[in-house]
Amino acid sequence: MERKEIVELVNREEESLKDIFKEIDENELYFSELVLNAFQKENVTEACFGTTTGYGYSDLGRDTLEKVYADIFHAEDAIVRNQFVSGSHALNVTLFALLRPNDLLLSISGLPYDTLHEVIGINDNPSSLKSWGIKYDQIELVDNDFDYDAIKEYLTNNKVKVIEIQRSKGYSTRDSISIDKVEKVCKLIKSIQPETIIMVDNCYCEFVERKNPIEAGADIFVGSLIKNLGGGIAPNGAYAVGRHDLIELVGERLTLPGEGREVGPTLGVNKELYQGLFLAPSVVASALKTAILTSKVLETLSFNVSPRYNDNRVDIVQNIIFNDEQKLIKYTQGIQTGSPVDSNALPIPWDMPGYKDQVIMAAGCFTQGSSIELSCDGPIRSPYIAYQQGAMTYSYGKLGLISALTRMLKDGE
Ligand SMILES: *Cc1c(COP(=O)(O)O)cnc(C)c1O
Repeated sequence: MERKEIVELVNREEESLKDIFKEIDENELYFSELVLNAFQKENVTEACFGTTTGYGYSDLGRDTLEKVYADIFHAEDAIVRNQFVSGSHALNVTLFALLRPNDLLLSISGLPYDTLHEVIGINDNPSSLKSWGIKYDQIELVDNDFDYDAIKEYLTNNKVKVIEIQRSKGYSTRDSISIDKVEKVCKLIKSIQPETIIMVDNCYCEFVERKNPIEAGADIFVGSLIKNLGGGIAPNGAYAVGRHDLIELVGERLTLPGEGREVGPTLGVNKELYQGLFLAPSVVASALKTAILTSKVLETLSFNVSPRYNDNRVDIVQNIIFNDEQKLIKYTQGIQTGSPVDSNALPIPWDMPGYKDQVIMAAGCFTQGSSIELSCDGPIRSPYIAYQQGAMTYSYGKLGLISALTRMLKDGE
C-alpha cells in the first residue's frame, strides 16, 4: 500500500470512532475538573514553582503538590517525588517500607512486572526482599480475572502482610485488570483479613477509568511520572497515594527514618510536575484515542489486536499480535521514523538486560524511557506482539500510526 492509500484508510476508520471519542472527551473533562478543583482548593500559587536545594526543607511546591494528588484521588495522603527514579523504584521503596522480616507478600495477579523480580527475590539478588527474610507467594489469574476461590482459601490459612495487584499487563499476554474487578477482590480480602495492606501497581491506568484504586478499597497505589500523570512534561519521578500512615512509612524509607518527607530537594522540577499533572487528562485522552484508532485500523487490516477498538479500556496500552517477526520489526521501526526525536535512528532487536528474548523498542521521545509519549516495543518471540502506548497529542499519534503502517506495508504487500 502507498502512503496515500494508508492515509485514506486511517481517515475512513477514524470517522467510525466518533461516538467512542466523544466518551473519551467526556472523561477528559471529568478528570480536568478534578485536577482544576484540587489546584484551587490547595491554593497553588506561583510560589509553588520555586525550588529548594540541599536538604530541601520547607519546599512549598513539593508539599502542596502532594496535597493536590491526595485531593484528586480522594485519598488521605500522597508522596510525589523526583527522588523516585521511576515507577519501579517507587514500587521497590513501598514494598520495603511496608514489609518486615518474616512477613508474607502475596501477588494475586500472577507474576509481577519484570523489574520487580529481583526486588522480591523471584530472581536472586543479594539486596532483595527475600534476602531480608520476607516471604513471597503468588496466585495466578484465571480467565483474565482473579482466582477468588484460591484467594479466599489462601487468606483463610495464611497471614498476609501485603497483597500486590498489578493492573496493567506488562509484557504478558493477559488483559489488564478493570477497577470493578479490583473492587470485588478488595471486598473479599477485607472480609477475611481486614488488616492486610492492599497495594496496587497502577502504572498506565491513571485517568482512564473514573474510579481509582483507593475508591475501590485498596490501601495504597503507586505509579510512574514518565507515564500518565507526568503528562509527558515531568522529567522523572513517581508517586504513591493512599492511607496516611502508609505514605509516612514510604517517606521514611525513601529518605531516612526521622526525616522522612520533610526532606527532598526539588531542584527546579516543581513547575514541570504541576504542568504535567495539569495536562495529564488531555494527554491520556490523546493516548487513548491513538490506541483506539490503531486498534481499529489494524483490525481492518486483518491483524489480531487487544483490546479491540470498542472494548472497555483499563489502561493506555495497545497490543497488536502480528504473528510475523518482520511485521513487528517494520511496524516498530515505522513508529521511530515517525517520531520527533531520533527519527533517523533505526531500532533493531537487541539483548536487553533482564529479558530472555531479544526486544525491539521505538522511543523517539523527549524524555528517556517515557512511555506516555508515543512508543512501541515488543519481545522477539512468537506470536510477535507489539506493545504500543502514548501520544502527547492525538494528531501526533495518528501521524505515528501512518508512519508505522507505511513502513510495514511498503514492499511486497
Ligand atoms: C511501567 C511499569 C512499571 C515501572 O515503571 P517505570 O517508571 O518504567 O519504572 C511497573 N509496573 C507496570 C505494570 C508498568 O507498566
